[in-house]
Amino acid sequence: MIIVSQYERKYNPEQNIDNQSKIFFIESKESSLCPICSGSLSGYDSRLRHVIQADGSRESYRLKRLRCQGCGKLHIELPDCMQPYKHHSASVIEAELDETGTHCPADESTIRLWRRQFTVNRSQIEGALQSLWQHQFLRYRSLISSDSLLQLFRSIGPGWLTIVTQQLLNAGFGVPTQFAFCP
Ligand SMILES: [Zn+2]
Repeated sequence: MIIVSQYERKYNPEQNIDNQSKIFFIESKESSLCPICSGSLSGYDSRLRHVIQADGSRESYRLKRLRCQGCGKLHIELPDCMQPYKHHSASVIEAELDETGTHCPADESTIRLWRRQFTVNRSQIEGALQSLWQHQFLRYRSLISSDSLLQLFRSIGPGWLTIVTQQLLNAGFGVPTQFAFCP
């Protein structure tokens, strides 16, 4: 799985299920590489995915699956408005983790589950961020006053959950099994 931030959201009227339900697709502006072996990726097939927005509306997307020319693994191309393995949008989940949401379309048990999974996996996420940072940005480490990179990312404000997820997935760390950081 890879997450893209630079993309255009488009829709093809010929691919609609019916007159009410639009199916969007993502045209990525990024040249993504395989997060496992850095091989080049080419189109393979597509998967239908739904996402629930803050107002409770449900959007449908036909997402590309890309195949690595190196290792042969398939990677779904997720737009950054989505959170892997979650039905609700990344911004909806983030607002609940931060307790800044005023209205959430998810039920209470789902919200509790998000918070519990995030708490359980916090140290795993922190460890992965530290490892990534040491490999890629070691020379900047001393510039960081916070001991917690997760806390540092959260201090950025809205969008931190997407940034953290994207960093980890695109670097090949995979998804913490509990806090499913898939469609
Ligand atoms: Zn690969």
